[in-house]
Amino acid sequence: GKTTGRNGLAVFTPELGRLLHDRLRLESALRTALERHELFLVYQPQISLSTHRLVGVEALLRWRSPEFGLVMPNTFIPLAEETGLIVAIGAWCLECACQEIAALQRQVGNTISVAVNLSPSQLHEEHFLETVERALTVSGLIPSSLEVEITERLLMSDSEESLQIVERVQSLGVTTAIDDFGTGFSNMSYITRFKVDRLKIDRSFVSRCLSDANSLAVTTAIIALAHSLNMEVIAEGVESVEQAVMLRALECDSAQGYLFAHPLTLPEITSYSRSMHDF
Ligand code: C2E
Ligand code: CA
Ligand code: CA
Ligand code: CA
Repeated sequence: GKTTGRNGLAVFTPELGRLLHDRLRLESALRTALERHELFLVYQPQISLSTHRLVGVEALLRWRSPEFGLVMPNTFIPLAEETGLIVAIGAWCLECACQEIAALQRQVGNTISVAVNLSPSQLHEEHFLETVERALTVSGLIPSSLEVEITERLLMSDSEESLQIVERVQSLGVTTAIDDFGTGFSNMSYITRFKVDRLKIDRSFVSRCLSDANSLAVTTAIIALAHSLNMEVIAEGVESVEQAVMLRALECDSAQGYLFAHPLTLPEITSYSRSMHDF
């Protein structure tokens, strides 16, 4: 809680002290969140832009804390990463997502895929592959119904080791996607080395593609890049019909966003899948 004052001396402000205290409280609560069953997943639908069918869901983590209320992942994932708790939390996410979506598939009689977000430290953890295999075996989910979302940040650092892990995950039959694509554009050479299955266009481009020519150009380029490398492409954060129409015209394969649905709880996604299926 120290900062450097005007004259170069360290000062400890009450405000910094309070922030530090809050952080320590959050951290100690997070340590027991898993065993106390306070974590759960919500699922956001992914819709094919050509058939308008539900093709998959993305699993998004939530924490219902007795002390803090509903905590969103942008608040606690960074903390989980810094403390190493992400390994156990990440393994739990994989297991839970596979089990819940395997059950959903059995109920609605349809193969909906599930995308799970991975943190870089999780992928580099020594038991990662076993964790993925176990999640698939225990749940009975077919490997091709599981997609892991990784970030460009991960692929650009340590690329030799990352390449091997990605290939081994793919050899299990699991599909791979690069999340937030376009935001880390500094070195794109990795994209020819990693044969991922799907690129996910970051919301920042999608939200501006109708108002900003540069965002439209980037969106168009990502779709062309994906297709020329035989990858699929999905747009995230689609909020308006106009954006969906534009993305469809650009031949983007699928989309996800508040226009179609917010992230839904398991019972909600179950009835959503049923209604989409009957329709
Ligand atoms: P992300 O993977 O880019 O996830 C998309 C975020 O955008 C989600 O926020 C989602 O609720 C939100 N979103 C979806 N559609 C729209 C839309 O139309 N408009 C707007 N404005 N937002 C939309 P959420 O659930 O708060 O997750 C935030 C981030 O936390 C995720 O970003 C991901 O990086 C991370 N995260 C979430 N769950 C997990 C997890 O299980 N493991 C790891 N490692 N990270 C996770
Ligand atoms: Ca994601
Ligand atoms: Ca994303
Ligand atoms: Ca994003």
